[in-house]
Amino acid sequence: MTFDSAFESVNARIAAACQSGARVRDSVQLLAVSKTFSAAAVAQVAALGQRDFGENYIQEGVDKIAALTALGLTWHCIGPVQGNKTRLVAEHFDWVHSVDRLKIAQRLSDQRPGHLAPLNLCIQVNIDGGASKAGVAPHEALALAREVAALPGLRLRGLMTIPEPAPDFAAALAVHRAAKALFDDLRASGLDLDTLSMGMSADLEAAIQAGSTMVRVGSAIFGGRL
Ligand SMILES: *Cc1c(COP(=O)(O)O)cnc(C)c1O
Repeated sequence: MTFDSAFESVNARIAAACQSGARVRDSVQLLAVSKTFSAAAVAQVAALGQRDFGENYIQEGVDKIAALTALGLTWHCIGPVQGNKTRLVAEHFDWVHSVDRLKIAQRLSDQRPGHLAPLNLCIQVNIDGGASKAGVAPHEALALAREVAALPGLRLRGLMTIPEPAPDFAAALAVHRAAKALFDDLRASGLDLDTLSMGMSADLEAAIQAGSTMVRVGSAIFGGRL
């Protein structure tokens, strides 16, 4: 299995979405989500020029990071972080997108090894209000962001969302625009944020149209997950 054409077509989709949203191509980064795929698959996509990879399951990610250290890739934790997994994240990953509690952020900061750069962090926001969903409520995002920004082992970069699948483009755009408005509010409050992590295989065009700076794409690159 080779990933050349799928990878090329995802990049073409991103470029087209940037063009139709009057955005420069460099304003949107591609995060390749490699969960469930092997280190060998990651190496193949890395050989096509991709540098940033996202993992949901922490131990699985740590194993791939160890297997591929020679490639010098940038690794993003995008899955739930329990208290007993913070040390693995702090010691092995470059980014974490999925933090919605101060306590977890404090542990990550405390456990970040001093010889590494601060861990880049996005706060996960429950932008469409699903009751059982991860993510801080939008009205709580500013307070949490201020506390996280003060932690020495972390570098607060922005927000991350995982909205419910939308029925059509307009609905997806509306939800992504709500996230962009919150992101802009936080920046207007003085927080130095540069990353809005939103959009996946199915909705990256709407996310880019709304202002995403990082799309997290798994199945459109790697194929379906078992
Ligand atoms: C799996 C996953 C993705 C990628 O989803 P696709 O639909 O395969 O592109 C993005 N973000 C998160 C948080 C995920 O868990």
